[in-house]
Amino acid sequence: MSNFIKAEDNPLKNTIIKKARSSHIEIVDRDICLNKCEDKPCTFYCPSRVFSWEGEKIVVDYGRCVECGACPWGCPYENISWNFPPGGFGVKYFYKLND
Ligand code: SF4
Ligand code: SF4
Repeated sequence: MSNFIKAEDNPLKNTIIKKARSSHIEIVDRDICLNKCEDKPCTFYCPSRVFSWEGEKIVVDYGRCVECGACPWGCPYENISWNFPPGGFGVKYFYKLND
């Protein structure tokens, strides 16, 4: 049982993320995020917490994306441009056994 992570743990803490050089996720118009989108649903429908806010700027931590495909459907303003990451092999994890 000790191998199971607790809910409050960061699920990615033992995972090494190797990011692609460029993002496969782009915000089309950042002004819409800031000025029109009241609830900012991307910050909670994304299971990997790719989207967050720093002050008045939306941050897209694309290396966390697990390619669930929710982006194009979840944004009420169709303001996220999402493409498959380069490689075509899906998400790859490098699991670190010892902390
Ligand atoms: S849901 Fe869409 S419009 Fe709203 S903050 Fe996220 S990316 Fe921007
Ligand atoms: S595809 Fe899924 S995991 Fe990736 S950023 Fe969009 S909602 Fe998050």
